[in-house]
Amino acid sequence: MNSKSKVLISEVGPRDGLQSISTIMPTADKLKWIEWEYQCGVREIEVGSFVSPKVLPQMADTAEVCKGARRHPDLTIAVLVPNLKGCEAAIEAGAHKISIPLSMSETHSIKNVRKTHAEMLEEIARCVAAVEQVASSARPHFEVGLSTAFGCTIEGKVPEDKVIEMAQRVLDIGVAEVGLSDTTGMGNPAQLERLATGIWARCGEGALTGVHLHNTRGQGLANVLRALDIGIRTIDSSLGGLGGCPAAPGASGNIVTEDLIFLLEAMGYETGIDLTALLRTRKQVEDLLPGEAWYGFTASAGLPLGWAN
Ligand code: ZN
Repeated sequence: MNSKSKVLISEVGPRDGLQSISTIMPTADKLKWIEWEYQCGVREIEVGSFVSPKVLPQMADTAEVCKGARRHPDLTIAVLVPNLKGCEAAIEAGAHKISIPLSMSETHSIKNVRKTHAEMLEEIARCVAAVEQVASSARPHFEVGLSTAFGCTIEGKVPEDKVIEMAQRVLDIGVAEVGLSDTTGMGNPAQLERLATGIWARCGEGALTGVHLHNTRGQGLANVLRALDIGIRTIDSSLGGLGGCPAAPGASGNIVTEDLIFLLEAMGYETGIDLTALLRTRKQVEDLLPGEAWYGFTASAGLPLGWAN
């Protein structure tokens, strides 16, 4: 197999999943979850976010989780930060990948983080400066997640040229990369292709290598397929689609990791993740979170006879 067929799955359940449910998972359980997924072959996990514990008490132990997860040198520890304070805490905790969401909808940005685009760009510049102070051998990869890039629940349509322009602006500030985030699950494959190729044409192919898609309207895997077709090789997903979507009962929020691996491996892509083992991990994590809704078709249908990956 050539390197083109390798796909990196970035598991976001411990962050995106856990921050969307009210249950607070104890640190030791988060570390068990991370360890189990590591044993299945997962090599990048978004372990939490450095936000105020008043806003998201579920994420209050992110520094501890980072430190615990660092026991595997080949596991990339990703975190989300809303501002410089979070970015500094993430650097301190030894995160390898730090992502700050920048909402393409200014209304959403003001409502969510109480900052205009101009204020967010200043905050991002301060984060870039903080990251650059770290010795290059230990410097985390700092990226901006272009959130609500596919549409906003408040503003509705988000102009595509606005997304491309904002990508350019943050790259000019010095961030390593941007990611496309379908925060609201409104995206479609044609739109994904236009946004990605638009950003590549303006900022170069290295500017965008990953996507964060939601399955709110059932388009998650369709969008993944188009992302793969155009050459994107990092896909975010969440075990059991944890977190769900309050706006669409029955629909998972994130793409379900198990279903994504089924699709990829069946098509001949290499994820490095043992799906049989991951289905067992799903059960173990389900037991740690009683009462939560779990999603995904592969877990309920089972693997086909003769499945091996
Ligand atoms: Zn998300």
